[in-house]
Amino acid sequence: MLRPILGISEADLERALLRKGVSARAAGGVVCSDCGRHPLIGERVHHFGGGPVCALCRGGHTGEPSGSEIVHHVEHGVSVRRRELPRAA
Ligand SMILES: [Zn+2]
Repeated sequence: MLRPILGISEADLERALLRKGVSARAAGGVVCSDCGRHPLIGERVHHFGGGPVCALCRGGHTGEPSGSEIVHHVEHGVSVRRRELPRAA
């Protein structure tokens, strides 16, 4: 067993990181208006005039959705990406 450093044990650190991750995901994520579930990253959610509806609840709605979108990670659009530099003439 590892010796606690700075007064925090390995188990406490794991719990703190898990809570931080769950809170960050819940704060920036999409929630299904029917079941309250957080759709998985990459899952498609549909709009029927109200809030987003997950793929599992899609069957409970008739007709075509007014729109659909893919759930992205909370860092989508914020993360640093490598860009191509303009070529010298
Ligand atoms: Zn749902």
